[in-house]
Amino acid sequence: MYIDTLVARTIPDTRGRPTVEATLASGAHSVTASVPSGKSTGSHEAFELRDADGSVATAIANVNGESASALVGRDFTSADEIDKLLIELDGTTNKSRLGANAILSVSIAAQRFFALAKGVPLWKAIAERANDGKGFLESVPSAATPAPAFRHVRAERNALEKSLPVASAPRLFLNFMNGGVHADFKLPFQEYILVIEGKTSDAMMIAREAFAKLGERLGSVPMGDEGGYAPTFDTLEQPFELLAELVKEFPHTSIAIDAAASELFHDDAYQLLGKSYSADELSALYRELVERFPIHSIEDPFAEDAPDDFAKLTAELGKRILIIGDDLTVTNPARIKDAAVRKEINAVLIKPNQIGTVREAIQAVQATCAAGWQTIASHRSGETADTFIADFAYGIGAYGIKAGGLGQKERVEKYNRLLAIEQEVKTM
Ligand code: PEP
Ligand code: MG
Repeated sequence: MYIDTLVARTIPDTRGRPTVEATLASGAHSVTASVPSGKSTGSHEAFELRDADGSVATAIANVNGESASALVGRDFTSADEIDKLLIELDGTTNKSRLGANAILSVSIAAQRFFALAKGVPLWKAIAERANDGKGFLESVPSAATPAPAFRHVRAERNALEKSLPVASAPRLFLNFMNGGVHADFKLPFQEYILVIEGKTSDAMMIAREAFAKLGERLGSVPMGDEGGYAPTFDTLEQPFELLAELVKEFPHTSIAIDAAASELFHDDAYQLLGKSYSADELSALYRELVERFPIHSIEDPFAEDAPDDFAKLTAELGKRILIIGDDLTVTNPARIKDAAVRKEINAVLIKPNQIGTVREAIQAVQATCAAGWQTIASHRSGETADTFIADFAYGIGAYGIKAGGLGQKERVEKYNRLLAIEQEVKTM
């Protein structure tokens, strides 16, 4: 692909904050990609470049300047080649020079372009890329240990070959109630989710009915950042009781939460509804909740720098439910490998903007698969109309997708894209 132009601009995200959108053109074709932005961000995420006034003007200038200078007027044979060039051009370990937001806008546009050039749907191009295994084998040193000896590389190759992702429809991890930093802590945990099994069109029928039903039960309440309801309750259990009623009513459903516990950790303890919990007390609470309610998974049950607490909980509950790493692993292949060695979790949230290129997000998926764990592809709390994450989730054969609640158009668009993919797959 010969790149004729690359132009970025500022657009607002769902919170009205500025974010980056880029358009890449070659011959008669052009593609556009935009980048979401998190609020409960992990401290080890790739660097989102913002100016002192909150704008992304420097990130935009970096796309239009340095990145365009490096790409425009050159021919590329793969999206991977472009990602490698962007990583080298930035030259930092966390993309702090050009900005992960600037880099990812180009990386997604490039992935989209090569799908278009090949004449295949985006999810299929991602599936092919995720299945070649090269990204993982080439260069994923562990963050904590030196580069693996050849023997280990071969063991990784064997594990990977057995577990390469196969494109398939993800379960919906659909956000029903927002709390934490996404709703001014009206609820202690950040996300109260209904997991819906089955093919997307069936799951969406359940989602629509169940979401409306909960809305009727809650009455007039505001919406949180991710398009779920943001009610207030007196007890920790009430949101679980409401979701458990829905699980009884709708088959093939269960409950998931994102505790986003880094945001709950103050003064050496976890603060929930005015009460302090030690890590052991919080573990006991999780065990009790799992006994009482049909819980499928708990994401970020502890703060990002408490990996031992994750490992303990995974040893206790990991056979019954998924313990998902988000702030803990930040879509970083090296951090995922380290978490695997210490058996800290058994599932990983994959957010491309936590690492900054599609290439590395796929490496994160491959590292997760090699550990024998599940992947959940995820949007961010500040979203755009870009539906890339739906194609990504399908392409990597994710176990699940988090794309928010049905109360915000930008979230619904992701589910609508999954519905379209369901039909595309039938015609291939
Ligand atoms: C999350 O924590 O999983 C999430 C989607 O929120 P944010 O984008 O604010 O990190
Ligand atoms: Mg999270």
